[in-house]
Amino acid sequence: MTEKPEIKKRIFISDLELRQNPGNIPENAIISPLSRDWMDYEGEVAGGRSQVAGRKPETSARPEEELRKQIVEIGRRLYALGFVPATDGNISVRLGDGSILITPAGVSKGALAPGDLTNLGMDGRVISGKKPSSEYRLHLCVYKQKPGVMAVVHAHPPLATGLSCAGVALDQPLTSEMVIALGAVPLAEYATPGTDEVTESIAGLLKDHDAILLANHGVMTCGRNLETAFQRMETVEQSAKITLAASLAGGGRLIPPDKVRELEKIRARLGL
Ligand SMILES: [Zn+2]
Repeated sequence: MTEKPEIKKRIFISDLELRQNPGNIPENAIISPLSRDWMDYEGEVAGGRSQVAGRKPETSARPEEELRKQIVEIGRRLYALGFVPATDGNISVRLGDGSILITPAGVSKGALAPGDLTNLGMDGRVISGKKPSSEYRLHLCVYKQKPGVMAVVHAHPPLATGLSCAGVALDQPLTSEMVIALGAVPLAEYATPGTDEVTESIAGLLKDHDAILLANHGVMTCGRNLETAFQRMETVEQSAKITLAASLAGGGRLIPPDKVRELEKIRARLGL
């Protein structure tokens, strides 16, 4: 008779638990993807505080070449979804030295190459590469106000942008996904694209939000990595579709307030 392999009890560690007690994570813990991103970020920017219980982080800080490839990949996905037609939209990531990589002006996000990207200092100075996207001020504003953010995506997904033209924010609890994955998405006041007006319009909203509708313009999302920022953009457009469908069908019935509080607890537990 063969012996059954021993199954060790494994403990799931949320992003919040890791932040609250970073030096005491058990060896057999399962660390959520978001927690790993945070560990990567800490290791990359803050000098290796991501060491947990005597073992190395499961993933290391991503090198610049890999981040360049990721921006190209996300550009293709945004273009394929119809979120960035023509030369619309822009994408950036924060590098370990505090500068950013951002897409250049006037280039289709569906046809980017890794070498096309611009390296920009936090003062807006071009370190290397082509002329940056005209919305670089928006990106710098997000990185300055949100130290945990490693990636910013700005796009013009048609339904979310349409709602922004109608003055409709995505801040009503219509689906659990909207509450858990996104939280309320506010509508920033109209600002002329590519000017400091854009940063002024979002500055007061950044503290509490990772996704913002820009009136008569588009959407900004950010996150601890590029994939998260991209997925938030997808979820914003999905939420816009659902909001529109509910409106066409006679108006949405909102999730009851006590149930919204339950969902908000789940969101906090997941560290979203
Ligand atoms: Zn735009």
